[in-house]
Amino acid sequence: MSEESLLDHALVRLDEAAAHLTIDPDVIEKLKYARETTQVRLMIRMDDGSRKSFLAWRCRYDDTRGPTKGGIRYHPDSNADEVQTLAFWMTFKCAVMNLPYGGGKGAVQVDPRKLSKAELERLSRAYIQAFARTIGPDRDIPAPDVYTNSMVMGWMADEYSQIVGRSEPAVITGKPISLGGSLGRGDATARGGYYLVRHLAGDLGLEELRIAVQGFGNAGQHIASLFAADGHKIVAVSDSQGAVKCDDGLNIEALLAAKRSGASVTSTVGQHGHEAMPAEELVGANCDILVPSALENMIHKANAEIVQAKIILELANGPVTSEADTILARKGVVVLPDILANAGGVTVSYFEWVQNKQGYYWTVEEIHDRLRTIMEREGRAIWTTAKEKNITVRTAAYVHALSRIADAIEAHGTQN
Ligand code: GLU
Repeated sequence: MSEESLLDHALVRLDEAAAHLTIDPDVIEKLKYARETTQVRLMIRMDDGSRKSFLAWRCRYDDTRGPTKGGIRYHPDSNADEVQTLAFWMTFKCAVMNLPYGGGKGAVQVDPRKLSKAELERLSRAYIQAFARTIGPDRDIPAPDVYTNSMVMGWMADEYSQIVGRSEPAVITGKPISLGGSLGRGDATARGGYYLVRHLAGDLGLEELRIAVQGFGNAGQHIASLFAADGHKIVAVSDSQGAVKCDDGLNIEALLAAKRSGASVTSTVGQHGHEAMPAEELVGANCDILVPSALENMIHKANAEIVQAKIILELANGPVTSEADTILARKGVVVLPDILANAGGVTVSYFEWVQNKQGYYWTVEEIHDRLRTIMEREGRAIWTTAKEKNITVRTAAYVHALSRIADAIEAHGTQN
């Protein structure tokens, strides 16, 4: 990566979209900067009695369309630039899906795998103590992201309730079901992407699919299961330890069992015809759909050329750099962009928030049905814009979102 920040790279997409719309330059000026980013140092007591400090952030990027919304990431490489960029993407993702939210994000610079469960709980509670005045059910609503989960959200919701002195489940989404979480939130990110591919399959010329999944965490595991259940072949998957492949289709149950026991997907090599594969070759796997499901910048200018897939389904946030986008477009690879492809997660978060506010809970069928309806409606509109304007699906998604954000900025009036 060059001297430029991740946010500079992300803003390239804003400029590309603006070229296809007539919008006030004030709108672009407003969207180039995060409204508010707060950095704190969290101090916690470790199990051995020592004290340790961790840097943490919460960014509210833009709240024009409603309270800011976005996950909290625990990662040793997290930094302010990454948090702001992820919050920028959330702003556009919520607008793509027409959710009544702006965009936010949070992070703690930590490797959670090195903390005990009790230390992790103290860290999560410390985060909420630090940001109790930033977040709120009508102000800023966190959720899970990389290396956080429903257990962490449960601790956080509990800490918030204790601070404000009342039950306030709508302050955070992705909670355990027993604390007001929504059915269907667990696989929502993958399910949204799956509905999108199914809906566009005819337009994309897809039938029987061969799929490669990069990153085998929550989203990666669920997308593999959903496609495999329809009889499609998962031909390669990777995690942080390495990759495995099988031309006849990997055994998903064996992969899931390995992950459940805390092992890598590579522990299945030698069983069910699984073969080892260098992790960096996964991007070039012989497949129809490549599904990056890990972190940012996985497909970049040095490896975009090796992509053989026809379609990239971005379940991760920002997995394809702007330089790689140009190469992929030239090769005719269709990228279904993050702000659409992985928006199922925040959409079911929105359903959770609505259910919490109503105190009335929906069935999993209702959740799936409503998610599919929104995914197909927004996916179809974006696909049509891409065809009509002869632009990439990513640029069309940004055009779609930007016109909604611009309308809202203008409707707020000039004094805002
Ligand atoms: N962290 C997820 C994302 O990047 C979900 C955010 C949410 O549910 O608010 O979209």
